[in-house]
Amino acid sequence: MKIIMLGAPGAGKGTQAKKIAAKYQIPHISTGDIFRANIKNGTELGMKAKSYMDAGGLVPDEITIGMLLDRIHEADCQNGYVLDGFPRTIPQAESLTKALKEMGESIDYAVNVDVPDENIINRMSGRRACLGCGATYHIVYNAPAKEGVCDVCGQSLVLRDDDKPETVKKRLQVYHEQTQPLIDYYKKEGVLAEVDGTKDMEEVFQAIVDILGA
Ligand code: ADP
Ligand code: ADP
Ligand code: ZN
Repeated sequence: MKIIMLGAPGAGKGTQAKKIAAKYQIPHISTGDIFRANIKNGTELGMKAKSYMDAGGLVPDEITIGMLLDRIHEADCQNGYVLDGFPRTIPQAESLTKALKEMGESIDYAVNVDVPDENIINRMSGRRACLGCGATYHIVYNAPAKEGVCDVCGQSLVLRDDDKPETVKKRLQVYHEQTQPLIDYYKKEGVLAEVDGTKDMEEVFQAIVDILGA
């Protein structure tokens, strides 16, 4: 099963993508996580991506598309995957559609996790991320057992620089301009599914399972 998660920054795409990956036994591919791992390891890709990410903008399509297409051609992607944070622009979506077509494949579901802007700033300022394993927490809605420490790997949790309110406002603006049009794109492709992302995490997941099938 090939699934795309759509939604504003902080809508809960990553939270739900991890649950989907575990239930349906497919890899969770987050372009944001791939960029952050590259930044942490000081790679050339990471250095190229960092300034765009810090400013709340998008990493250019020339960098992002090739990276994602390489990833979905890896062996673990044969039975599908859940894409989290890609595509984010119409050219990214078109490149993905074309690459899949060449393999005789297509996306099964594009799940839009709908959350209004008013809720986003609050979600992001409470988000804490583990740069060790990619786990995500929320200080109120999904707190770790021990404050500031990752339940999974024990590393310390951070507030991402780009989750500070000024940058979140910029990211929301970029979302509305460049990413929101993908909702219509996938509606036209006939694969759009919508869920109410303001519900609690388990309810949102149940709504997604109802769509994908048990
Ligand atoms: P969030 O989960 O909060 O939406 P991500 O971790 O997906 O954030 O992305 C963090 C940043 O990485 C984005 O703001 C952007 O700069 C960059 N990024 C991630 N995915 C893409 C993409 N598909 N195209 C361009 N930039 C991306
Ligand atoms: P995205 O990947 O779309 O940027 P995340 O999955 O990282 O979003 O979620 C953003 C923040 O909101 C995290 O701190 C997460 O724990 C929290 N969160 C996710 N889903 C919900 C929900 N349904 N209700 C409340 N908080 C949520
Ligand atoms: Zn961790």
